[in-house]
Amino acid sequence: MRWTWDGELFGCDPGQPGGESFVTPKRLIYNAHLEQKPSRIARRQPSPDMPKTCVFPETSPSLQTTEALIVGGGPAGLAASIALRQRGIECTVVEARTPAGPAGIDKACGEGLMPDSRELLSKLGVDLTEADGHLFHGIRFANARHSVEANFPNGSGIGVRRPRLHRLLTQRAEQVGAKLLFGSRIQLAEQAVPDTDGYHTALINGDPIRFRWLIGADGQASSVRRWAGLDATRKHSLRYGFRTHYCVAPWSPYVEVHWGKHGQLYITPVAADCVCVVYITRDPHCDRHNLLAGFPAVAARLAGAEAAGPQRGAVTATRRLQSVATDSVALIGDASGSADAITGEGLAISFRQAFALADSIASGSLDHYRARHSSLSRLPHSMASLMLLMDRWPALQLRSLNSLAQAPKGFNELLQAHMGQRKLPAVLLRRAPGFGLRLLSARAGA
Ligand SMILES: Cc1cc2nc3c(=O)[nH]c(=O)nc-3n(C[C@H](O)[C@H](O)[C@H](O)COP(=O)(O)OP(=O)(O)OC[C@H]3O[C@@H](n4cnc5c(N)ncnc54)[C@H](O)[C@@H]3O)c2cc1C
Repeated sequence: MRWTWDGELFGCDPGQPGGESFVTPKRLIYNAHLEQKPSRIARRQPSPDMPKTCVFPETSPSLQTTEALIVGGGPAGLAASIALRQRGIECTVVEARTPAGPAGIDKACGEGLMPDSRELLSKLGVDLTEADGHLFHGIRFANARHSVEANFPNGSGIGVRRPRLHRLLTQRAEQVGAKLLFGSRIQLAEQAVPDTDGYHTALINGDPIRFRWLIGADGQASSVRRWAGLDATRKHSLRYGFRTHYCVAPWSPYVEVHWGKHGQLYITPVAADCVCVVYITRDPHCDRHNLLAGFPAVAARLAGAEAAGPQRGAVTATRRLQSVATDSVALIGDASGSADAITGEGLAISFRQAFALADSIASGSLDHYRARHSSLSRLPHSMASLMLLMDRWPALQLRSLNSLAQAPKGFNELLQAHMGQRKLPAVLLRRAPGFGLRLLSARAGA
């Protein structure tokens, strides 16, 4: 069994040194279990490539110093580094993995950026154009019998392959002066005792560095979260996602979410000749070689299309933490909790958090971030709850889609609420009586 310590749980590329074809569902469970403790940040532990004993020097102003030390150079860590630099705050990003050549780091992801994600990226200085991916104009929900779609109220979304997005964020972070250390390892002292100036010391690849703020951007299985004692959750559930790219021209101007009996298949156009297909399920035993079996309409579209690259998998969690910050440690992105991937909002949430965190650090306290984080997560979590309810109760899903197909205006309003353009409770209240009646009168299979 091969798994890397950097938080990538499974999805090794075949043919790569030490790689293997992919995980079996059994291994998937094993890995999902491992998710609780991968990417361990060494705590004075000897390792083959490190000295047997790590000596943490007393902090001293003569040591290399950074204001904010960011652990994890995924989208959240890179966005945080850019937002901090935009406020003139000096920062260093430590990322365990190394980008492969000119491409950035890959990860199983639906690769859809909603119009709000694009806007936020633009504020970070990353303007996505058609040269980077493929535009889409709204969302379509479908099951075997019904289909309903709505256009975004303003702007379009864009499907961008993950390594490309990572590359663009990396370039921007470098451009604004963030220090990026890829393929690097961090060790934190057991006791977080600051010096008189409020600085702590860590080791990066064995070399000491002083820092004022520590930012955990190290993904779902965050070690910083555990290290800082922020692991306590209010809500926690897991599903499993499998991503495959197919060489086929996108057939729809929408991101399509196809609802099946055991999960959802969602399809994002990412290039003029490529779509990204993600299957998300609660079932860790699903047959990953045959994911299209429950979706004949999609299978027909993809018939004969070659898969572009290996399938990759990842766990998607619904997780709410009791707290996302201490006095000097803040969590961001998936490390700070997440809404299920079906919302397609993971990246947008990370970018919003990056701005809030940078403002908070600029003000000298993480109190503002703690409060903002909670309000930023509310809407995505409410939307995720609605969708997971439909996932849990197939009969409800069948009836809901039937009802929405009969009243597409309701779907339109729900999408507007999802994009933060309307208040979700108001939409639900307004639509509930008619929707409830249709829900009760509709036969599930009708
Ligand atoms: C199946 C699936 C589909 C999704 N679809 C979408 C979508 O369509 N749209 C959307 O917006 N979001 C989607 N998401 C969510 C989105 O992918 C995440 O929200 C996003 O990746 C979070 O970014 P992050 O930087 O917090 O974490 P990650 O992307 O996981 O990055 C964490 C980084 O930290 C590094 N790391 C970990 N431990 C250490 C360590 N100890 N030291 C140094 N580095 C470390 C890792 O190598 C990694 O690079 C999807 C998620 C899944 C699972």
